[in-house]
Parts: sequence; structure tokens; C-alpha cells
Amino acid sequence: MAYIDFQNVTKVYGIGEAAVFANKDIDFEIEAGEFVVILGPSGAGKSTTLNLLGGMDQLTSGKIIVAGQELSRLDDEGLAIYRRDKVGFIFQFYNLIPNLTVLENVEMSEQISHKANQAQKYLTAVGLSHRLHNFPAQLSGGEQQRTAIARALVKEPSLLLCDEPTGALDKATGQQILQLLLEQNKALSTTVIVITHNPSIANIANKVISIKDGKIESIELNPQPLTVA
Ligand code: ADP
Ligand code: ADP
Repeated sequence: MAYIDFQNVTKVYGIGEAAVFANKDIDFEIEAGEFVVILGPSGAGKSTTLNLLGGMDQLTSGKIIVAGQELSRLDDEGLAIYRRDKVGFIFQFYNLIPNLTVLENVEMSEQISHKANQAQKYLTAVGLSHRLHNFPAQLSGGEQQRTAIARALVKEPSLLLCDEPTGALDKATGQQILQLLLEQNKALSTTVIVITHNPSIANIANKVISIKDGKIESIELNPQPLTVA
């Protein structure tokens, strides 16, 4: 069985004439250790798919299975544990806590997931050992995203969900961030899923799932994804 299995997943927002099919009969499989890009224009349903996968929203019909667990069978506490222990999240605008330092932001994530003494190690791995005691506002965008990556990695998640992780960054900084995600994917076989509207990010993935109007347009395997430089 695949690590992630979406079976006829439909998510409807609103009712009656106001109903929006944000995801409609979405089917795909992702194996453990894949690097997947979900590509599509604004409004295609990418965030909906990511939110369902991250246990942040409930589907309307269908099945989502992650590591043998059917998400819709989990109660609120089960979903909270799933989010806490299995999933790392990375967002376009970093979502760091402004009045905590870089180190404190990562330590907080570590404490919530009951890990210990790894915060500095992961901050060093993302190239921020010289920034531990700075506050987010003192960092460049690229450094803030590196902090967010360390915050996600310190949980040692098996699944890393990234929502437009380079959307707020210039091209070169964005490439460094993607490189970092790729290294994590290769080093620890972390399954990485990136949603984006930017087709130029697709060449990094070994699988590209294109969606539009809530439906899958294509699923393409990339035989030669970009590798770690
Ligand atoms: P994308 O991430 O590809 O831009 P979304 O998943 O955010 O797409 O949105 C897909 C569709 O679902 C859009 O038409 C959007 O307006 C609608 N939608 C998303 N979230 C909600 C919500 N909470 N309530 C109502 N409609 C929503
Ligand atoms: P990037 O090329 O990553 O976008 P910037 O050009 O924004 O970086 O910043 C270059 C350097 O200046 C970075 O090391 C960053 O930490 C530092 N820097 C940027 N803004 C501030 C600030 N407000 N306070 C302290 N250092 C800053």
C-alpha cells in the first residue's frame, strides 16, 4: 500500500447554489520518500488538498490514507497527534512567533513534539548557527524560511507539507530553500510535498500532480529530477 493514498477525495465548501467543489474526485498515490509538487493556478484546490492531507480540514467524501491510517476515522485528538508527530508544515510567510528568538521558535516546536536537544543541530543544518538569538524581524526572508524549516525538521516528521515555500522570496533565495528541502528528502527519506502555482519549481520533483478547478489534470513522473548540487 502506498504511503499516501487519496481515493475519490471530494471537498465541498458551502451548500446549495453557493457550493464550491474545492476538490472533486481527487485520486493519487505517493510513496514514502517521494518529492512531489502539486501544481496549479490560484483557486485550483491546492491548499484544500494540503489542508486535508495535514489533518487541518475534514473531507466531504472519499478516503485519505496516510501510513495505513485513514484520516477521517481519527477523532480531534487523533488528528492533533497526527499533526504533531507525523507532519511538518512550511508556509509562504513563515509564521514564526515574532517575540521569540530563532532558537526559541525551534525549541517550542521541539517541546510540543516531545523531542529534546536537537534545536541547535537543526538550526546549524540550515545554516543559522550564527542567528540563534536574533528575532525573526532581524532576519532576511530566506533566513526566516530557514528558521521555519528547522522548526519543522526538529519534529523529525515523516511528511513535510510546504505551501508556496518560496513564494515570498527572490529567485536565488528560493532556490536555496528548495535545495534544503531536497537535501532533507534525500538524507532522511522524508516525504516532501510542495504546492505551488510556479511551474519552474516542478523540475525538482520526481512526481508532479497538476490540478485545476478541483480536479486532477495530469500526474507526471519526472525520470530525472534535479539532484542536490
Ligand atoms: P489554491 O490553493 O489552488 O489557490 P484553494 O484550495 O485555496 O485553491 O481553493 C479552491 C477553491 O475553494 C476556490 O474556489 C476557493 O475560493 C474555495 N475555498 C477555499 N477555501 C474555502 C473556504 N474556507 N470557504 C469557501 N470556499 C473556499
Ligand atoms: P537575502 O539575500 O537572504 O534576501 P537580505 O539582502 O534581505 O538577504 O539580507 C542580507 C543580510 O542582512 C542577511 O544576513 C540578513 O540577516 C541581514 N539583515 C537583513 N535585514 C536585517 C535587519 N532588519 N536586521 C538585521 N540584519 C538584517
